[in-house]
Order: sequence, then structure tokens, then C-alpha cells
Amino acid sequence: MNAYDDSNIFAKILRGEIPSTKVYEDADTLAFMDVMPQSPGHLLVVPKAASRNLLDAEPETLATLFPVVQKLARAAKEAFAADGIFIAQFNEAPAGQTVFHLHVHVIPRYDGIPLKPHGGGMEKPEILADHAAKLRAVLGA
Ligand code: AMP
Repeated sequence: MNAYDDSNIFAKILRGEIPSTKVYEDADTLAFMDVMPQSPGHLLVVPKAASRNLLDAEPETLATLFPVVQKLARAAKEAFAADGIFIAQFNEAPAGQTVFHLHVHVIPRYDGIPLKPHGGGMEKPEILADHAAKLRAVLGA
């Protein structure tokens, strides 16, 4: 199994070394907007505990992570009036993983509207800030 490397970009966000557009934080978990959203409101839920992905994560990490994924999926459905929510999580590069700290994508979906490509264009910071504010409003945060 590949080793965890704490120079990855999400570890830097967790350490506060680089900025993110935060949506939610608790003792174990941070959620922030994806800078290249596949749909408006696309966010990432990241455990603070270090693991590359699902394959090397402690079960305890998953046990605290997924209730937050559910909370944010519900919030995203309401905040963006989505028809559905796509949950995605990639394990190692051949499966599409590009950042090697475990994270779960929460992506609003709409009837008949295809997703933008994974890792497509960067969204404007003010749009990401507006989307994060919409999510925080639903969360009451
Ligand atoms: P993956 O590892 O394939 O699940 O994809 C990593 C995701 O992180 C992609 O959707 C990127 O758009 C997103 N991403 C990369 N860098 C940042 C960043 N600094 N802040 C927020 N999202 C990021």
C-alpha cells in the first residue's frame, strides 16, 4: 500500500497553510468548496485524520466522516434545489484520485443536466464564497 504524504494540498488546507472556502468544521472533519466544481455547490468532505483514501483509513475515521457527508448532502440538496446528490470518492490514481488525502465529493445533480468533467475549469472565488454561504445558511452556521 502507498504511504500517506502530508505534503498533499488537503493536508496543507487542514494545517491552515493554504486557504479554502470553508462550509463546515468540527473536531474530526472539514468541508470546503471544490475549486473545480462539476456542478454548482460541489463540495468536499475531508477527515482531519491522515489517510490516503478509503483503503488505508481507520474504520473510526469513516464512522465520524459519513454522518457529516450525510448532513452536507442534505444541506446541498436543499441549498441548491437539487434533484439528487452524487457522492464520489476515488481510491488511487488509476481510479481517478488526484489528491492523496481521503475526501468525499458531494455534488448536486439535476434531471437531464450532465456533470462537468472531473478536474475541469476553476470557479471564480466569489461564486465559491456565495455557494459556501448558501450551504452555511441551510446548516444554520
Ligand atoms: P480527486 O482526488 O480525484 O477526488 O480530486 C480532487 C478534487 O480536489 C478535484 O475535484 C479538485 O478540483 C479539487 N481540488 C484540488 N485542489 C483544491 C483546493 N486547493 N481546494 C479545493 N478543491 C481542490
